[in-house]
Order: sequence, then C-alpha cells, then structure tokens
Amino acid sequence: LLYNQVQDLKGTIRVYCRVRPFLSGPPDMQSTVDYIGENGDIMIVNPRKQGKDARKIFTFNKVFGTKVTQQQIYVDTQPLVRTVLDGFNVCIFAYGQTGSGKTYTMSGPDLTTEETWGVNYRALRDLFSNTKARQDMIEYEVGVQMIEIYNEQLNGLNVPDASLIPVTCTQDVLDLMRIGQKNRAVGATALNERSSRSHSILTVHVRGRELVSGSTLKGCLHLVDLAGSERVDKSEAVGERLKEAQHINRSLSALGDVISALAQKSSHIPYRNSKLTQVLQDSLGGQAKTLMFVHINPEADAFGETVSTLKFAERVA
Ligand code: ADP
Ligand code: MG
Repeated sequence: LLYNQVQDLKGTIRVYCRVRPFLSGPPDMQSTVDYIGENGDIMIVNPRKQGKDARKIFTFNKVFGTKVTQQQIYVDTQPLVRTVLDGFNVCIFAYGQTGSGKTYTMSGPDLTTEETWGVNYRALRDLFSNTKARQDMIEYEVGVQMIEIYNEQLNGLNVPDASLIPVTCTQDVLDLMRIGQKNRAVGATALNERSSRSHSILTVHVRGRELVSGSTLKGCLHLVDLAGSERVDKSEAVGERLKEAQHINRSLSALGDVISALAQKSSHIPYRNSKLTQVLQDSLGGQAKTLMFVHINPEADAFGETVSTLKFAERVA
C-alpha cells in the first residue's frame, strides 16, 4: 500500500453530518441546531418544545457547521478517495431532504468557480494529480460513467448506454458533466424537480499496472447525490408523484438496510431490494469503504425532517 492513511481509516463505514447555513431571512432566525461538539456531537432543539425534552444529541464521525468550507470538507474526504488508487472501492453518498445541501457538497453551487467546487471535482483533480505523481511506478487509466436512477430505472447520462468514458484531466470530466446535465434536462420539465427525485451517480473507475512487476489493480469511486429524503404526504401525492415517492422511500430504506447490516456484520446483506443497492453492490461491503454525508437544513420548519435524517444516519453509523 502506497498510502498509509488506509491504516487510519478504521472500519469501513463513516458518517459525516453537515449543517447548511440559513439562506435568507433575519440574522436572529432560530436554528434547530443547538450546538456542535468537538467529537462529532450535534445537539438539536425542537423549536416547539420547552425544557429538557426539547433537546437531543446525536453522535457521528464528524459534524461540520455552517462556516465549514468546501476545501475543509474535502480534507476529511481525501484519505478515502486516495485509497481508490490502491485498488479499493469507495462509495460517497449525500443524503438529506431537498434543499439541505446535497448537491452543494457533491458538485458545488456552480462549476465555473473552483473555490466552491464540491467533492466530485476535488476528488477527480486529486486522483489525476496522484496518478501523475506515481507515473514512474504505476501506469493508470481512469474512466468515468454517469448514471441516474429514476423510478427504479437506470439511465445513462453521458451517453445512451452509460458506457465508460476515458478521461485524462479534470477538464475532460467537467465537459462530460455539462453533457450529462444537459441530457438530464431533456424530457424533464424542471431539472431541479427531477433531480431531487432521482439518484445520480458519478463513477470513477481506475485501473493501474505496476511497471516493474506488471501486476494490476482496479478500484472505483462512486459519488452519489441521492434523491431527497423528505416524506411525501400520502394524502396529497397522487399518480406519478406518489409513484416517485414510493420508489424513493423504497430505495433509501434499502440503502439504509444494507449499510446497517454491514455495520452490524450481519451474515445476510439485502442488496436485491433496490436498483441503487444492486448497482453499488460490489462497492458496499467486503473491503469497500463507505462515507455518508447527511445534510441538515437548520430552519425550524425542517425540524421533523432533520430528526428523521439524523435517525437514518444514526442507524447506519
Ligand atoms: P439539495 O441538493 O439537497 O436539494 P442544494 O445543494 O441544492 O440542496 O442546496 C440548496 C441551496 O442551499 C442552494 O442554493 C445551495 O447553494 C445552498 N447551500 C447548500 N449548502 C450550502 C453551504 N454549505 N453553504 C452555502 N450555501 C449552501
Ligand atoms: Mg440537489
């Protein structure tokens, strides 16, 4: 192993919680996040309750507050990303209700500003620079694939059959992302609407060949922006909307079931229950590593969803 950080990555599942800032409104608006501790603690407060019962603590591997930058987030993601070059499979998920900051963490608010790039571009840039740093020892090939899972159906975004596209630099990836986003918009009246109800997966495949020994390795990184986790009011949702909601519920709970079964070292891991867990099967479990970012919208109205997000996260942690 070239990266001894692997040793620091005890266990295969970690959960990071990120709280997004208030987007507008008065500066004294009350947050449901009471405090964030040093050791991965987050205390939330129910705005409609008083006293001791109003507060609850959850503990994760790390909790990031509203002032944490994209760069700081990446610092704690990088060791995991780099293990892909040693032949590990890694899944990084963004979970949370619509509007909580999933896409901000994974992609960033806008492709043109490097400073706010999300985990996706930083990871790719990092992989490319590390393959270059090792080029005298190992020859690497990198390919990416973009898919979307909508209503339990798999669609390729960059090309019709979701095939692997070889890439050599971050610019290649940015170009592909633009094509992918365009294709995603085709047929969808409102891109945001649709993107919040589908899972999008950017997969980076890495193959390496050691120049001296000729031995080979293979690793892959899945970067997953999940569909919004909000519960849909059954009395209001009908037709297509209800179907979407049911598919999302089913796949997010299937994902939760798989990760919690892995965390408990259960002998049966229920991969077959959703398209998402089937697609990612080879990268969940075994030697593979999982990082789940759970996102919190700190507004009082979001409190119910915040609690269910934290409960989901606690179950997989
Ligand atoms: P989601 O993908 O979960 O629906 P988004 O990532 O689109 O949510 O975020 C919703 C809004 O909040 C966007 O306008 C986004 O730019 C903003 N936002 C999210 N997280 C942050 C953050 N950490 N700092 C600043 N703005 C953020
Ligand atoms: Mg989004």
